[in-house]
Amino acid sequence: MTFNFTDSVNQYFDGAVEQLGLDPYLAHKIKVCNATYTVKFGVQLRGKLKTFVGYRAVHSDHIEPVKGGIRFAPHITVEEVEALATLMTLKCALVDIPFGGSKGGLCINNSDWTQEERERITRRFAAELIKRNLLSPSQNVPAPDMGTGPLEMAWIADQYRRTHNNDINAMACVTGKPISHGGIDGRTEATGLGVYFATMAFLRSEVVNRQDFPAPAARGLAVVIQGFGNVGSHAAKYFANDGARITAVGDHDIMVRNDAGLDVGALQAHLKSTGSIAGFVGAESFGQPADVFAVPCDILIPAAIEGAITEENVYQINTKLVVEAANGPMTPFAEMALAAKGVPVIPDLFANSGGVIVSYFEWVKNLAHMRFGQLQRRREQSLTSRLLSELERHTRTGFDDNFRDQMRDGPTERRLVESGLEDSINATFQRIVERQRAHSTTISMRTAAYMIAIASVADRYQTMGL
Ligand code: NAD
Repeated sequence: MTFNFTDSVNQYFDGAVEQLGLDPYLAHKIKVCNATYTVKFGVQLRGKLKTFVGYRAVHSDHIEPVKGGIRFAPHITVEEVEALATLMTLKCALVDIPFGGSKGGLCINNSDWTQEERERITRRFAAELIKRNLLSPSQNVPAPDMGTGPLEMAWIADQYRRTHNNDINAMACVTGKPISHGGIDGRTEATGLGVYFATMAFLRSEVVNRQDFPAPAARGLAVVIQGFGNVGSHAAKYFANDGARITAVGDHDIMVRNDAGLDVGALQAHLKSTGSIAGFVGAESFGQPADVFAVPCDILIPAAIEGAITEENVYQINTKLVVEAANGPMTPFAEMALAAKGVPVIPDLFANSGGVIVSYFEWVKNLAHMRFGQLQRRREQSLTSRLLSELERHTRTGFDDNFRDQMRDGPTERRLVESGLEDSINATFQRIVERQRAHSTTISMRTAAYMIAIASVADRYQTMGL
């Protein structure tokens, strides 16, 4: 059976609505996508006028701006961007960030074009979005997704700035920009780091099965990852840094495996220099991309595409926990099959929310036109220096210079971003667990997350009298 992303999101949505006992008319209004725009535009490339097709879906503008990534991939469909936009509405509501939900996509095979050509195509796409108010700091703020990154975001921001040179907030029209172009330190890694924080929140909680995970730590756990792009490679790095073994990684062309643990940094470097994880000298064996699901592990992280885990491969999976780093990586059937085996799933809505959380920090930073902590930094430094000197005088001990400098200098932007992200993830996880606990029947983390998000959007609709 082919995977239908929209059906799958709708099925989860309806299940949560049933548990909430929400008015069906209100539930329907929240569920449907407000509007989806299709743009078809031409770009002169290699002496020919090439036509490209792009989409931007606005699922819900109950709060503006609406937020959601732009993906570049060869075969994007309206259904796909609408389902992703729905997830964005729910994700922002779940993590309590003041954005509605949107998503966009451009049908393009990145490897067909040079960087200079991709820049021209991206700028034309941005111009089409600008014309329709689908790119604006106060209305619609895209971010990176599959096939896009800081470079594309810089082109988009610059395109907006050129046409809105009187808009003082122009930089805030898109997030995920390079730091030198108004970005925030830590946004590129944020989704992968959020995946790690979400997993750690689960491992440290009382809801975890202690027979499966005796210690509340990543150390020694075997982790398998599908997709070694932005999200998958950064998640791998954070798990490995914390002592987990990344035993297998599957990408679009091949799977690499090393039961002793792959060297994540070396694998990233190999991918960067060769364009593929194939031929990596630090792997014991290689296989087909789909083989990754048959590798036994403690934690399985699908971080590539939607519909990756289905009834066809779910029975090969031998893991104790699935963490959905990608959006919609498994079908409802596969989730049921895993639940029957007692395998919990940390759902996409929560697990990959790190990207939008840090995007929010970037947007706020752009609107503030000021570095975080700029106002109080100097004063805090002098207070901390005085406090340390007093402590030294009273205890008659001298502090180590490094410690003194660290205390006095205070946190860097990256440290602030990471701690803000961890705090949001932990608070959200707590809300999910409380919702599960408050419910009379057993509900999955996904159902609890959908319930929190839908109830929050419904509340907003009712307060606004919509
Ligand atoms: P990316 O383009 O950087 O990486 C995707 C990776 O998946 C690539 O390495 C690609 O080769 C690999 N891949 C593609 N098809 C595959 C297949 N069939 N089997 C195995 N690997 C395959 O994209 P990304 O930004 O890392 O996004 C990955 C997922 O995470 C997507 O579902 C995206 O929507 C979601 N997500 C991304 C962000 C973000 O900040 N980038 C935020 C939230 C959610």
